[in-house]
Amino acid sequence: MRFSKTFIKTLRSAPKDETARGAQFLIRAGYAHKELAGVYDYLPLGLRVLERIKSIIREELNAIGCEEVLMSTLQNPDPWIKTDRWDIEKMDIWFRTQLAAGGELGLAPTHEEPITNLLKSYIKSYKDLPVYTYQFQTKFRNELRAKSGIMRTREFIMKDLYSFSASDEEHETFYHAVEQAYARIYTRLGIGEDTYQTFASGGVFSKYSHEFQTLTDVGEDTIYYNADRSVVLNEEVLNDEVLTELGVQRDELESAKAAEVGNIFTLKTKYSAPLDLSFTDHDGKRHPVLMGCYGIGVSRIMGVIAEKFADEKGLVWPESIAPFKVYLIGIGERGMQQAEAWYQGRADSIFFDDRDLRPGEKFADSELIGLPYRLVVSDKTLAADSCELTTRATGETKILPLAEGLHFLESMIDS
Ligand code: ATP
Ligand code: MG
Repeated sequence: MRFSKTFIKTLRSAPKDETARGAQFLIRAGYAHKELAGVYDYLPLGLRVLERIKSIIREELNAIGCEEVLMSTLQNPDPWIKTDRWDIEKMDIWFRTQLAAGGELGLAPTHEEPITNLLKSYIKSYKDLPVYTYQFQTKFRNELRAKSGIMRTREFIMKDLYSFSASDEEHETFYHAVEQAYARIYTRLGIGEDTYQTFASGGVFSKYSHEFQTLTDVGEDTIYYNADRSVVLNEEVLNDEVLTELGVQRDELESAKAAEVGNIFTLKTKYSAPLDLSFTDHDGKRHPVLMGCYGIGVSRIMGVIAEKFADEKGLVWPESIAPFKVYLIGIGERGMQQAEAWYQGRADSIFFDDRDLRPGEKFADSELIGLPYRLVVSDKTLAADSCELTTRATGETKILPLAEGLHFLESMIDS
């Protein structure tokens, strides 16, 4: 991608009401645009980050046997009425709309009801189970407060996975596989070390649910952990009974701010019973299907990573989700020609700052945009048959022979 050809520009300031540093950088660096409070547009660089996050999640879920779908955003009230969640008193985050032809529709806040209803057409007997199905989908929630840029919004991208099993054993096995897949996902996203699986309040059918919480000062949640972090729990389950059960004492726990980047729930028959999703067993007896649901906040993760790794100069993307790996700068006539030659055929992996600007402005923008590596070729470096490679996260700069610069670029090309 050429900087001179994209419509985005880096901006000197972010909207005044945007207080989180990462969110300010996302806007100033041209990843996102604020449409209104809690509603954002994703621009070319931001979209690439989202797509990379999705690819990592997709690979890990496909590897444990999940199937991807894309469900509708407009939702039929009927299944929600059956589970008693159409009620605005019980689900205060609904966005709803009137049909011109009469009647009401909901704008997807989540998909337990529609997916359960949908699978009634496909699940009849034990032979049709298990089913593990997920999607990346835009959710709408009328959140009272939008917060921390794209971390809490009224329209956001979620990965939601639902499991349908015939027995508790089958459910447990899959639940465990998801725990492990999530751990791999957060590691690949670059937040593995600071993301903890926590005990959270479980809802009706299981004692606990599990959340995945990433340490960050701008997180809305507080988590508690012991010295070796083998026990981590959410504030809402911090009570004597739970502490005894987990074998920890209150005074050995420390607290930290964190953001929920995912969660997993055992639902049992909470939705399958009222929606009558059942199967016949070997003996022809009918049973409600056992369900689980597993969320990941795709756009929130982008916000968490932006916040967590940013420094005073701008964003710092982990390699795995950076929109491009290399920010290429040419300086001077020959430097520009060399950069141009390197850029040819590698447009998909290199962000080429080919603008006719002073070097200082390009350097500042490269730091704001936060790609993992900056490669500079100038008339001066060329005179020594070399180029300059800087790692964004550490600020470390190396002088490389030209041939090695090219070799480095080649190693950065997406396979
Ligand atoms: P929270 O407690 O943060 O409101 P939740 O319990 O409502 O989250 P789910 O409904 O299970 O979360 O959604 C799955 C995931 O989607 C969450 O773990 C979180 O990462 C993300 N998420 C939830 N609400 C929002 C939001 N308003 N904006 C962005 N991401 C969100
Ligand atoms: Mg919520």
